[in-house]
Amino acid sequence: MAKTTPKHTQVVSGWAALDSSGKITPYTFNRRENGVNDVTIKILYCGICHTDLHYAKNDWGITMYPVVPGHEITGIVVQVGSNVSHFKTGDKVGVGCMSASCLQCESCKTSEENYCDKVQFTYNGVFWDGSITYGGYSNMLVADYRFVVAIPNNLPMDRAAPLLCAGVTVFCPMKDNNLIGSQRQNIGVIGLGGLGHLAIKFAKAFGHHVTVISTSLSKEKEAKTKLGADDFIVSSNPQQMKSRHRSLDFILDTVSANHSLGPYLELLKIKGTFVIVGAPDKPMDLPSFPLIFGKRTVKGSMIGSIKETQEMMDICGKFNIMCDIEIITPHQINEAYERIEKNDIKYRFVIDIAGQSSKL
Ligand SMILES: [Zn+2]
Ligand SMILES: [Zn+2]
Repeated sequence: MAKTTPKHTQVVSGWAALDSSGKITPYTFNRRENGVNDVTIKILYCGICHTDLHYAKNDWGITMYPVVPGHEITGIVVQVGSNVSHFKTGDKVGVGCMSASCLQCESCKTSEENYCDKVQFTYNGVFWDGSITYGGYSNMLVADYRFVVAIPNNLPMDRAAPLLCAGVTVFCPMKDNNLIGSQRQNIGVIGLGGLGHLAIKFAKAFGHHVTVISTSLSKEKEAKTKLGADDFIVSSNPQQMKSRHRSLDFILDTVSANHSLGPYLELLKIKGTFVIVGAPDKPMDLPSFPLIFGKRTVKGSMIGSIKETQEMMDICGKFNIMCDIEIITPHQINEAYERIEKNDIKYRFVIDIAGQSSKL
């Protein structure tokens, strides 16, 4: 594609981490002018994903400071480039984890650009023009239209924001394993956080029997009465684990703390599938016996393509699936980070970037 280097003259107010203390402070920076393939978005809301904390603190050693996190972005289109026919001014749109990919490789050509070798993320990535990408903790975003999705009218913009990362992360494994429009199956969801609670909502919308597997008994009531789960297993209770032996067709593991897969695999029926979407920082214990003796499969999945993200958004519109959130102001981001580290959140913080909530 033609590469003209756009000028970065648009001044943006945002919030960034400047060093590995991870402290988020107000930060002014520039974005590119709206190019022919771009849409400019006035950001209304941005969800806080645990990934943001890892980047802010340079946990993975790859952070380019200053980093403006945020990849669960919703807002309104305020400008479109001349090549853009998908979106117009005033449209409700969202941007998730990706800002660019090579557009030419096998993954890109088959609408799996999330697996492109050269995929660039919405923040801490390098865009086609060589500039470092800055995310949604800011009042405005310029995005290539191929990395923007439409938000259905009936979804509230705040509760839709986390769907762009958390939602599509749990949706894609269900889609890939033919759980949409299939017969009723027994689905297990390990972990009841931002990902887990959305997984329950999708699985119930698709008509399945849902078992939540959690370390804390205290979450049982909420899982069943509020989120609609059918069954609940405390993973540290061997009797409970044993009583559900070979009962599940499919398990989605959303836990990012280190844990052994062995006991969970025993919950799967023969030929059952176990999909990992949580990302523990150490290798996981994967014993061979439950795999061999049960002909079971373990695999991973990372977010989804833009096409899948749009499909997920449309399904959320149809079934009224949205994230349970706590709205905060930009000045409360650091406090929210502390609470996320203590697991004190139901189920996602969303930053009210444009100050909408206070005007209601
Ligand atoms: Zn995320
Ligand atoms: Zn590619």
